[in-house]
Amino acid sequence: MSIFDSLSAVCPECGTEQAVKVVASINADRRPDLREQIIKRTFQERTCPSCGFTFRLPPRFTYQHFAEHMWMIVHPRRDLAKWQELEAEAQEVFDSAYGPDSSPLAREIGAQLIPRVTFGWPAAREKLVARAAGLDDITLELLKMAVIRQVPKAPLTDQTELRLDRVDEDDLVLFWVDGTTEAVEASLTVPRSAYDEVAGGGDWAALRAQLTGHAFVDLNRLLVPAA
Ligand SMILES: [Zn+2]
Repeated sequence: MSIFDSLSAVCPECGTEQAVKVVASINADRRPDLREQIIKRTFQERTCPSCGFTFRLPPRFTYQHFAEHMWMIVHPRRDLAKWQELEAEAQEVFDSAYGPDSSPLAREIGAQLIPRVTFGWPAAREKLVARAAGLDDITLELLKMAVIRQVPKAPLTDQTELRLDRVDEDDLVLFWVDGTTEAVEASLTVPRSAYDEVAGGGDWAALRAQLTGHAFVDLNRLLVPAA
């Protein structure tokens, strides 16, 4: 089941409020259209009745896609500083649904799911794109670290993140994007062979260990100090 909540949205341009229905829980097995909208960046898009400005409501929902072994809680980007607390909360929610105290059936389902927590639309969308392309999200984060080390003037700021846009035949197309507004600053192409190299091990064992066994699999885990 996909569950919707009602709340009021404020236009970031003129401040007009409007009542909206927002999603609280997505079941992508039953609603592949909602998954498509996230990938197309149209999900929860609204147009202001006063000024006509089009904007997206900040994400805050649970996302499940059993066919892809995905279970994820998505928070607004502004909550990133609280990642440690919200990661623990996500793990608690996951454990109460699928953990040791749940029914045998739930435990069986849960064993197939990988819990994740993300902040902002670009981060949430990236998990879907990576999974669809058969990429491991931990390896993808390590690849980004390799890219950041090699790009002399990486435009990494408090707001700008390096995210996977899409996978073309032999290339991963990454872009620098504002984690809140989704404004794209620049894109770069990384050959798939670079991903394969990182996947092969090399010098990445220590950083890989830091990203493994947690729900918050994101470079920001290493870059944003826990609040
Ligand atoms: Zn407006």
